Amino acid sequence: MTDSDTGNGGGDTLPPARKYFSGTAGDRLAWDDAARLDRLQYTVDQARGAPVYKDRLQGLKVHTLEDLASLPFTFKSDLKGHPAEAFLACPKEKVWHFHESFGTTGSPVPGWYSLDDIEVEIDVIDRWLAEFGPGKVVMNRYPYAFPVPAQLVETAVRLMGGTLIPTSNMTYNVGFMRVLRLLEQRSVNVVTGMPLEAILLKETALQLGMNVRDAFPSLEAFAFAGRILTPSWKGSMEDDWGCTVRNLYGCTEGGPFATSCEHGHLHLHEQFFVFEIVDPETRQPLLEDAPVGTLVATTLGREAQPMIRYYTDDLVRVRPGPCPCGSPTRAIEVLGRAGDLIKFGSTEVTNFDLEEEILQWTREFQSNVFFVIITSRGFLVRVEAREPGKVSASEGSRRLTDRLGVPVRVEVLPRGQLINHVSLVTSPAVFKPRTVSDHRVEKRKVINLSGGLIDWWAEVTVKHVLQLMVKGVRDFFAGWRIRLFG
Ligand SMILES: [Zn+2]
Repeated sequence: MTDSDTGNGGGDTLPPARKYFSGTAGDRLAWDDAARLDRLQYTVDQARGAPVYKDRLQGLKVHTLEDLASLPFTFKSDLKGHPAEAFLACPKEKVWHFHESFGTTGSPVPGWYSLDDIEVEIDVIDRWLAEFGPGKVVMNRYPYAFPVPAQLVETAVRLMGGTLIPTSNMTYNVGFMRVLRLLEQRSVNVVTGMPLEAILLKETALQLGMNVRDAFPSLEAFAFAGRILTPSWKGSMEDDWGCTVRNLYGCTEGGPFATSCEHGHLHLHEQFFVFEIVDPETRQPLLEDAPVGTLVATTLGREAQPMIRYYTDDLVRVRPGPCPCGSPTRAIEVLGRAGDLIKFGSTEVTNFDLEEEILQWTREFQSNVFFVIITSRGFLVRVEAREPGKVSASEGSRRLTDRLGVPVRVEVLPRGQLINHVSLVTSPAVFKPRTVSDHRVEKRKVINLSGGLIDWWAEVTVKHVLQLMVKGVRDFFAGWRIRLFG
């Protein structure tokens, strides 16, 4: 097959992977109302092919964009309560990928993707990582099983012509130390993955006596998905590393809802979705200037798994006014799941506000390692500091109590109390499967197949074991103290 066979054009200038894709995702963007209505009508018709929507949409038509509000919501419980096939809207021959969400809040939910769907979603990644084309090196730390971002990034990098280093974070044989070595030796330009990666890698580097701001001059950006970063999360990581941090908001079942611009604002992909913001109590659409509502997303044109009025359960706040980046789409702050709202007495605290307030304070002493324990007496905020003696816990307690409106007690700890440094620098060695072990020679000796695959104690020394024991005893007494006095 040649480029001309696919209608791509471009000849030798195209990255090789381009020829497998039509390159027409851009034609399917729906910016104006007429195009959006056209794509919405396609979506509703396509959805009728999925068993779960066949009855729900019977007799319902969409003549205007406003008619969407008359269609039923799709809840996460619908996805969990049916077999995955109930949401498949196209023939199985057209399915390229099947994914599932992590399942952190119960049963995982499915995500079917046709080639056309993948191509459109890659368009989002292409725009998000636009400058990482030929000559740029992208390390992909998204887990390859089972959510979708790893494969989207991989394909997007191939299409853009960059160099991919696939090092899924949930694998035995690429631990944090190996990642640091690769960042340095391969001159990596961008790391994609889950947000706490930046903190765990920094802590590992500190253990090794490295300063991450100086050690990786090629590193230009982190591109994170999987959780939302508040401005101070993002800012503290950028302070640590001296590079930019980008954020993607979306889900396996729905797709990439928003990506951050150069000003750090999350812009909704209104060319691929119709978004509604509804009252979490009444589920009625909110006015444009309403402070906070639940995001509802309808895909514009997904072939394998169109989603009609998907009730994300995520509380969002629309940022007022236009963004300096010039994007015509709305920018939002994602405040967390409605179900994760922390209620204390008559006060409600969102995860977003809790993390933002804590980090605004901890950034003053260059820390972003913290953990919050909620007890009947209030919030216990445990914070690591490089020089704990110089940080006033009582001042932190007063400040956070004042800002959050709930009783807060701060505990300032030395480094290594909230992140186990021993586990950061140890990872099991993983070997190729083998069926023979020669015990006569000075080589690694094993006695069964399992022993041949993984060496769990490969890098653990007596010192590490002692550190782990001390940590275990400390954690035990800390837990006991928190239960009594938390
Ligand atoms: Zn912007």
